[in-house]
Amino acid sequence: MRIIKIVLVGVILLAAVLIVRTLGFAPPASDDIAPIALGEWNEQELAQGLATALTYPSISTGDIAEFDYEPFFDLQRYLKQRFPKTFAEIPYEVFEKATLLFRWQGADETRNPILLMAHQDVVPVIPGTEDEWSYPPFAGTVADGYIWGRGAIDDKAGVLGILEAVERHLQEGFVPPRTIYLAFGHDEEVGGLGARAIATALQERNITVDFLLDEGGVIAKGMIPGVDKRVALIGPGEKGYVSLQLSARGTGGHSSMPPMQSAAGTIARAVHRLEQSPFPVDLSYTIDFMRFLGAEQPFLQRLLFANAWLFSPVLTGVLESDPATNASIRTTTAVTMLDGSVRDNVLPIKASAVVNFRILPGDTVESVIDYVTAVVDDPSIQVSHYGGFGSNPSPVADTESVGFQVLSDVVKQVSPETLVAPRLVVAATDARHFNQVAKNSFRFMGVEVGKKELEGIHGTDERVSVASYAEAVKMYYALIARAGEL
Ligand SMILES: [Zn+2]
Repeated sequence: MRIIKIVLVGVILLAAVLIVRTLGFAPPASDDIAPIALGEWNEQELAQGLATALTYPSISTGDIAEFDYEPFFDLQRYLKQRFPKTFAEIPYEVFEKATLLFRWQGADETRNPILLMAHQDVVPVIPGTEDEWSYPPFAGTVADGYIWGRGAIDDKAGVLGILEAVERHLQEGFVPPRTIYLAFGHDEEVGGLGARAIATALQERNITVDFLLDEGGVIAKGMIPGVDKRVALIGPGEKGYVSLQLSARGTGGHSSMPPMQSAAGTIARAVHRLEQSPFPVDLSYTIDFMRFLGAEQPFLQRLLFANAWLFSPVLTGVLESDPATNASIRTTTAVTMLDGSVRDNVLPIKASAVVNFRILPGDTVESVIDYVTAVVDDPSIQVSHYGGFGSNPSPVADTESVGFQVLSDVVKQVSPETLVAPRLVVAATDARHFNQVAKNSFRFMGVEVGKKELEGIHGTDERVSVASYAEAVKMYYALIARAGEL
């Protein structure tokens, strides 16, 4: 009887701990701040401004020799015309032919500046899919409550949104309390030489940026299971990126008398080992994200995440079964290219695989190489960098930081019903070049993205709703008004 009593008391205690932790699993309380006067905005007029920008096919290509700058110059002529005060009153520099950096002098020169970023370039429309668009990708159509076209979200909404806010402030005679840089890259989608040049220039000028805002997070609608409200996903950091090539050499020769294992077989075994040994899991970013959803999420989900100390095996199992959530809990391994012999009856002299890794904060390019070398465990395989492009994960900004709080306030002011949560960005943005320059960097733009909009980004029928684009503009406007706090 005594033992039953002890067990019973134990169970009750455990249940109490679980419940208390669950109820306490909520976002930090935020202070009420005096709202910024947003003024009246003409949504249709804003929409037309973005739509016209979408008519310039400023497509970036990886091959510099083939880069067509004309559409960028045309786009910039249009921007000059639409934002006359900005171009006349704020001095700007051009980097790498088409990347723009504005320096908007602030009142207090003793304070570090802030930096707002977006990119002018867009990805191409996949040849043969033009007809699948509801409206032509470079027509800049406003219809059905949406602005349609390539770049509507990624990322001309950012470029135009920032400039609309700045132009309005200039019209109103606003002087920023501290210097604000505006950076508009022209080749983000193909590596970001423009942004890198800006980062280098700032570094050479010994400029430290207190707060950086780039693309990456959006307002998600209907994208988070069990949560009905819209959620502003503010990226406090982003994953790193590296591609490694694994290569093995063989003797070559005729395939009629093959060895037990060819170079291709050696590579296949290595690739198999890598896929069988995914990187270790770190649930902390996902737990933090869920904490911000608080009571808006299903109770069971809240209970599990609030008590990850107990349920982490369950959570890991669920999260890693979906590629989208798996990407947030570990460094991911994607085998993307395989190469062997050029003929069916010739043994390969060399075989190789290219594996792309998206690196979770905590890992580094170096630690990924070490891990891969250990898992492959085959001295006959050479592991080397592929593509000459790699970046460590960004530092992760604190959600208690003033930058996160102000962004959060700005979202809540423009759209009080929207939840705010920190969400690690799993793709790469231009912000990654500023790891040495910026103290706190965030990735967010206040446009709404539901399932349809998500399919459009880099896909067919890219679009943004007229209403949500106007919200994004207002958020930039309010953020600039509060630049002094950042
Ligand atoms: Zn983008």
